[in-house]
Formats: sequence, C-alpha cells, structure tokens
Amino acid sequence: MFQLPTAVQTCLQTLRSAGIDAYLVGGCVRDLLLQMTPTDYDITVNVSPATVKQLFDRTIDTGLRHGTVTVLQDGMPIEITQMRKDGLYTDHRRPDIILPSTSLTEDLARRDFTINAIALDDNGNIFDPFHGQQDLHRKILRTVGDPNQRFNEDALRILRLFRFAAKLRFFIEPNTLSNALQQTRLLRYISAERIFAELIKIVTAPEPEQLTPLLQYGGLSFIGLQYHRPLTPLSALPPRRNPRFAGLLYLCGADAEQTCSALKTDKKLRRYCGFVLRALQQPEDHSPYALKKLMFESDFSTVSDLLCLRAACSGRSDTQWQQDLRQLRQSPIYLQDLQINGAQLKTLGIRPIAMTPTLRYLMDCVHKDPTCNRQERLLQLAQKYNETCD
Ligand code: ATP
Ligand code: MG
Repeated sequence: MFQLPTAVQTCLQTLRSAGIDAYLVGGCVRDLLLQMTPTDYDITVNVSPATVKQLFDRTIDTGLRHGTVTVLQDGMPIEITQMRKDGLYTDHRRPDIILPSTSLTEDLARRDFTINAIALDDNGNIFDPFHGQQDLHRKILRTVGDPNQRFNEDALRILRLFRFAAKLRFFIEPNTLSNALQQTRLLRYISAERIFAELIKIVTAPEPEQLTPLLQYGGLSFIGLQYHRPLTPLSALPPRRNPRFAGLLYLCGADAEQTCSALKTDKKLRRYCGFVLRALQQPEDHSPYALKKLMFESDFSTVSDLLCLRAACSGRSDTQWQQDLRQLRQSPIYLQDLQINGAQLKTLGIRPIAMTPTLRYLMDCVHKDPTCNRQERLLQLAQKYNETCD
C-alpha cells in the first residue's frame, strides 16, 4: 500500500463520497511507485471544476480554462483536473482545444511518457493501460503512443525526456530517442524561459550527462550549446543552479553572454557565468594572492564554485583547497577590510578622482602582503602611490 498524506486521502474520499471518479495521476504516482516522496499530488476527476468547487471550503481558480482547480485541504494545495482529451496541436506546444472526457484511459493517453501515465485510486488500485509500471521497473522512458507524433505535438516533451532521464537515471528507449532527436528543430517553438527551466532541472539532476545525445545531435546549437567535451564533470559539482549551469556552458565551449541572453536568464547568473568562464580561461593559479584577487572581483562562493569546477574538469578529487580557501577568507580581501577609509586618505590631499585607484592599489598591496593592513603603513603607501602618479 502507499502512504498518502492525510490531506490527499481526505480529498480523494470527499470526491468519492460525492460519486465522482477520482485518481491520483502523473508525477506523484510515478514517485510513489519508485518509493520516492512526491513533491505534489495531482488528481484527475470525471467532473468539471465547478462541481469540484462545490465540495470544498477552500479552492483556488488556478486554471479553470484547462479544467483545473486547486483545493486547499488542511493547508495542502492539491490540483484537481477534469479528465480530458487534447485536440489538434498546431503550434508544437499546446493543443488548440482541450475536450473534457470521462475516460481515464483517454486522459492517460494524452500524457507524455508511460511512467507518467499511471493512475492510482484511494484503495491502492493501479490503472496502467500503457504499461508504465513495466517501464518503471526496467528504468525505461518511452512515449505514450507514437513518439514522432508526440514530440511533434509538443516539443517541450523533448526536454522533459532528457530531464526525466537525468533525474531518474533512466534509459531512453531507442525509438523514443531517435524521434526526439529528429524533432529538435521544433525546440525553437518553446519559450526561452521554458527551455532554461528545463535545462536547470537537467543540470541539477543526479545524471546531467544524459543531455549528451541532444548536444551531439546539435539540438541546442540555436542557443549556443554544442557538444564539446564529456559532461561527466558536472555531477561532481554541488547540485546548485549556478555552478552546474556555468559548468554546462564551459563544457559546451559556449559564450556565456550569448547563451544567457538567448535563454533570457537573470543578470546575476549572466554575470556569474561570464566571470567563471573568463577565469577558467586563465592559466591555473591557486596562490593565495590570485585567489584573494578572484574573491575581490566576485565573492567567496563564486571562487569556491570555480575551484570546484576546475578540480572536476581535471578529474581531481582532492578537497584540501576547500579548507585553504576557507582559511584565506579570514584575510583582508574587500575594501571594507582595509584599516583606512576615504576620509583618512583625504587628509593626505588625495583628490576625489584619485580615490578609487588609490584604494585599489592599497587593496592590491594588502592582498600581496596582509601585514600592510595597518593605518600608518597604508597612509605611507597611499602617499607614495600618489606621488608617483602626479
Ligand atoms: P515533477 O516531479 O518534476 O513535477 P511531473 O511528472 O509531475 O514531474 P509535471 O510537469 O508536474 O511533471 O506534470 C504532471 C503530469 O502531467 C506529468 O506526469 C504528465 O503526466 C503530464 N504532463 C506534463 N507536461 C506534459 C506535456 N508537456 N505533455 C504531456 N503530458 C504532460
Ligand atoms: Mg508534478
């Protein structure tokens, strides 16, 4: 039997007591069968959202047009969607119309992969017309129905395919894979934001190298990502968005600016990737001075990610550098660490225009030799610097 949260059980029972057919569907059933904890629970029913709304005190109109209403059961949001059948797809992303249905099999048939097309009722009965359990057991990803048609209908499924492969460490059934690759030109119909969101899920998954066939096929070259070197180092990086995404760009030999703007990423990530990729092009220098300079230009965690990426790409597994870096963090690195400020420099008669270069010069001296970080010494250095500049 499956351990369902009480809120989900209550919700299913409320629906059932009203004579409604209600089943858990999609990712939560897949995750339960894999003995993983589902992130959210989706229910499909054979009635309209209006009917569902009458049965619950607290509901949110999340997508009435798509037949979805969210029920807040004991504070837990549960999406309830009317069973449906998709109409024709002409934009390679969404069906032109969706038709309500009362057939569970019809609803499961519109779903992307067999492992995502299994339904479960509150008595623990499983409905699995497309043999998703067998594929789960064998760790195989396969479309429901003809892969050529299913990827053509909605090209986002191509990225979802690689996402589930990376997340679950599954194989992609050969016919599903070759059809996904053949349709990659349709990825242009998918919004940059969607592509970015899927790529992040892929790179932060346990097996990001599952993306390799798509890169080798040139399916992402329109956003500047090509197969350049193996993606294996990615899984050695912390499973966070920034280092994994920068790692992907690096391993694909991408231009950070170009790919980040094609994917409309936020400015912070663009700056981060630009910095990390530029630093990786420089010869490796892990002297305290070089590391402090890098921290000064970015921050501790960016430099830590950078070193991690360097180590992963050269197959090193030593972790001593992490301790060294943490220790370095105690040294004066940023302007606010200097034992002097602008007002004190003014007393030397330094003009406002020379203030920033002077501070940077002092910072550099302190990076080289932290014992310089005394007010009296810094004033001397500042004076000398300005004399030579005058
Ligand atoms: P996750 O655990 O990442 O949320 P999920 O499988 O639940 O994975 P969702 O995007 O939440 O993914 O979608 C829920 C379900 O809806 C899927 O399991 C699948 O059955 C169906 N689905 C979602 N997107 C598509 C799509 N583009 N084409 C066909 N079916 C889809
Ligand atoms: Mg989900």
